[in-house]
Amino acid sequence: MGKPTGFMEYKRELPADRSPLERIKDWNEFHHELPEEKQRTQGARCMDCGIPFCHTGMLLNGAASGCPINNLIPEWNDLIYRGMWKEAIVRLHKTNNFPEFTGRVCPAPCEGACTVGINDPQVTIKNNECSIIDRAFKEGWVVPQPPKKRTGKKVAVVGSGPSGLACADQLNKVGHSVTVYERADRIGGLLMYGIPNMKLDKGVVQRRVDLMSAEGVTFVTNTEIGKDISTKKLIEDYDAVVLCGGATKPRDLPVEGRQLKGVHFAMEFLHANTKSLLDSNLQDGNYISAKGKDVIVIGGGDTGTDCVGTSIRHGCNSVFQLEILPQPPMERTDDNPWPQWPKVYKMDYGQEEAHALYGRDPREYLVTTKKIVGDENGNVKEVHTIKIEWKKDESGRMMPVEIPGTEKVYPAQLVLLAMGFLGPEETAICELGIEKDPRSNVKADYGKFATNVEGVFAAGDMRRGQSLVVWAINEGRAAARECDRYLMGYTNLP
Ligand SMILES: Cc1cc2nc3c(=O)[nH]c(=O)nc-3n(C[C@H](O)[C@H](O)[C@H](O)COP(=O)(O)OP(=O)(O)OC[C@H]3O[C@@H](n4cnc5c(N)ncnc54)[C@H](O)[C@@H]3O)c2cc1C
Ligand code: SF4
Repeated sequence: MGKPTGFMEYKRELPADRSPLERIKDWNEFHHELPEEKQRTQGARCMDCGIPFCHTGMLLNGAASGCPINNLIPEWNDLIYRGMWKEAIVRLHKTNNFPEFTGRVCPAPCEGACTVGINDPQVTIKNNECSIIDRAFKEGWVVPQPPKKRTGKKVAVVGSGPSGLACADQLNKVGHSVTVYERADRIGGLLMYGIPNMKLDKGVVQRRVDLMSAEGVTFVTNTEIGKDISTKKLIEDYDAVVLCGGATKPRDLPVEGRQLKGVHFAMEFLHANTKSLLDSNLQDGNYISAKGKDVIVIGGGDTGTDCVGTSIRHGCNSVFQLEILPQPPMERTDDNPWPQWPKVYKMDYGQEEAHALYGRDPREYLVTTKKIVGDENGNVKEVHTIKIEWKKDESGRMMPVEIPGTEKVYPAQLVLLAMGFLGPEETAICELGIEKDPRSNVKADYGKFATNVEGVFAAGDMRRGQSLVVWAINEGRAAARECDRYLMGYTNLP
């Protein structure tokens, strides 16, 4: 695949991003494109390694190794190298309904498992993927392809994130009539109202939604299942129901001062910002502004990074991101070998921007919050922290232990809680008596996706807990296959 000697002849090359100090002035995406010749050269670096781990999607050491949707990566790397872009998008769409999303936001576990990566920089798989789909849209190759026949079966999908969209797309392809219900005013789940515009332009999301509408999928917004329409009614009206409501219940921080004005969940901040941006270019004022404020983001993950990037674009005075875990090593450690997901230090876009502005990575590692302090009007004023170290307790479990004398006080007029999610909200599931697993996600075995209620399936974060877009697509596709089998007695869906 590619050019057998390409990885020795060509260096890994990604298009340069817009510079941090320039891109923080707007909300546009920050990636440029490579010229075609260079992109083809990057395809040529795929080395015909024989056993391409990049497309396996196994779980190794608790993280994905290789592509969770088993993208046929060596095949389309080869097609890029040969300049066969139209054939490349056909191969890519076979396994991935939405490469324009993963090509932008996927952390690329494929690249962690790339064989070239054993002793050289990996193939630019994610960027190659993005270049194929972006070119296909530009060339007009991605057009509505409604099914030729309808089966007469009706399916309701609850939730319009990547799992719901992938599920709806697959079920529609085989001729079922699909209606997607979404409680928000726009379709897309966290693609629309979680991941900020600079990482994933909302026009890119809407373009796919419009395509699916033209193919016959019905979208109903501003409708919460379990509230505006009962789940029981949905079961009566449809032949099957697939729950794809996400895992949107945020983890709270039970410390003194949590109730102060100016302390918010990250999603309140991010959702309102994107909505206001799309509704009025932030002119309606219906968002939580970080302008001129000292911002403390509690949580060092992706959601926290999006809060950093958003705060900087508002014009915050300063921003710190507090992380309870240690800083990852600069290189793979011996217990994290290839092809495992490399747990190494990286600066994501938000940290790069903070670094460019303030001369430092905004993350503070091994820090826990002791209390939040307010002023006489109940507005947040300070965050009090202490450093910790991780030590084993008597049972052998790693526990955070405070280090006396390391207390610190951060000035803060805005505190954003980005400490992960605790599972799905219950509106759509409790009235049906749907069973949950010990982690409070909907109980439905991976591979079957059926809940304990006949004809009701579950997929995505709602079933597996907060995860990744690529896993949501994997689950949406697989749940569609099982739903189709349930409806028809057989299935041809992959
Ligand atoms: C801020 C943030 C940034 C992220 N960044 C990345 C990233 O860069 N890359 C990556 O791979 N992953 C990222 N993730 C994770 C990724 O977005 C999720 O794993 C993925 O979106 C899950 O898809 P889903 O379809 O299962 O659920 P969601 O995308 O959460 O969609 C669920 C939808 O269901 C709707 N819903 C819920 N209940 C009901 C109901 N009763 N009736 C009607 N509608 C309902 C919700 O409103 C929501 O729109 C991020 C997550 C967050 C929070
Ligand atoms: S979807 Fe993600 S893991 Fe799969 S090929 Fe694309 S970037 Fe890699």
